[in-house]
Amino acid sequence: MTDPIAYKRVLLKVSGEALMGNQGFGIDVEVADRIAADVKQAVDLGVQVAIVIGGGNIFRGVAVASRGGDRVTGDHMGMLATVINSLALRTSLVKYGLDAVVLSAIAMPQLCESFSQRKAMWNIEQGRVVIFAGGTGNPYFTTDSAAALRAAEIGADALLKGTQVDGIYSADPKTDPSAERYDRLTHAQVIQKGLNVMDIAAVALTRENRIPIVVFSIHEHGGLALILKGQGRSTVVHE
Ligand code: UDP
Repeated sequence: MTDPIAYKRVLLKVSGEALMGNQGFGIDVEVADRIAADVKQAVDLGVQVAIVIGGGNIFRGVAVASRGGDRVTGDHMGMLATVINSLALRTSLVKYGLDAVVLSAIAMPQLCESFSQRKAMWNIEQGRVVIFAGGTGNPYFTTDSAAALRAAEIGADALLKGTQVDGIYSADPKTDPSAERYDRLTHAQVIQKGLNVMDIAAVALTRENRIPIVVFSIHEHGGLALILKGQGRSTVVHE
């Protein structure tokens, strides 16, 4: 008997940092290809996958602001970084035979299509993997918030947050050996405990729209398919 699929339509959020592998900056194509292979497994399970990718491997607006620069311009640069990553990921997805489209919150028609909710839905229904680029299109937001927003707009069954570790911990497991992993949490607990998994705006938006968040490791090959089958190590944030 085949495993039942826990979610039919998902929004996968991958941080820009995941794309850089061990390089320290930019895009490691091998890592992009591996993530694409995992997405292919998910699509083969019959799951509709949309993706938001961050830009932290290239640029973050706060880096400009912290040196006395203009935050808004810095955030514009950060949003452009997400477009670069989205184009790289689309290239990898196409290598695996997937039909993928980049929809950007900021119009740049020579590079990719512009976002609209209707266009996103149409492409998903055509069986395409949709990559949402440009974050929300506004400064002072993050791509976590963009992921929560797009998840709500497409009616995703879950927001899958691929991170460096396999769930939400009470402290940073890389520096604190006593850190404990949570299996399940409510959105309210994540906010109350100040757990460092997504920014509060993103968690609040998913709570309001009753979208569960599943936090899992993006570095485990095949991990995405396991999560979709309701297996694998993760923390589920629910109502
Ligand atoms: N950004 C923004 N508005 C958005 C999304 C992103 O201004 O709606 C900018 C912001 O400067 C941010 C950068 O883009 O630091 C990259 O996004 P993020 O830090 O969320 O990427 P990640 O940490 O996921 O790699």
